[in-house]
Amino acid sequence: MDVKKYVRDVKDFPKEGIIFKDITPVLSNPEVFKFVIDGMIEDIKDWNFDTIIGPEARGFIFAAPLAYKMGKKFVPVRKPGKLPYKKISASYDLEYGSATLEMHIDAIEKGERVIIVDDVLATGGTTAAIVELVKKAGGIVEGVYNFAELSFLNPREKLNDIKVGSLIEY
Ligand code: 5GP
Repeated sequence: MDVKKYVRDVKDFPKEGIIFKDITPVLSNPEVFKFVIDGMIEDIKDWNFDTIIGPEARGFIFAAPLAYKMGKKFVPVRKPGKLPYKKISASYDLEYGSATLEMHIDAIEKGERVIIVDDVLATGGTTAAIVELVKKAGGIVEGVYNFAELSFLNPREKLNDIKVGSLIEY
């Protein structure tokens, strides 16, 4: 199946000059969404991990079904002020200004092996901040896996020697 047919380019979103990869056509077609989730599971079935971290909000859409079907623990990472309990946080630079992500302080135990699953890996800033959160908590990042990777933005440069995989690449 040509999954890329179901990813829509939206010009000038969220601001001028950016071509946004809109994944909602994947979600609105049950056959395609199933093909995508099954394909992602097939790619990472031999990775050694206990836990899947999914970042708000589109990361949840892919990370939660993977955790459910693979029998793994799911941990949400969220934007500031959303998680109710005690938190740790990491900040990262955006083109203008910076952003912060939070995770519950007891979400990951020392030595726990985790993977990070998101919809789109673009510059790698979001994922690099989550790697920092996992390290702060004493966890081990087994790898990073995405529905789509925008290789032309060189996200792997920000992720050093971490294993990175993606179902589709641009
Ligand atoms: P990064 O931090 O790697 O530059 O951006 C990745 C984050 O921003 C992901 O959480 C992803 O949801 C969002 N993102 C950035 N660009 C796109 C895009 O073109 N399409 C989608 N769906 N999400 C994007």
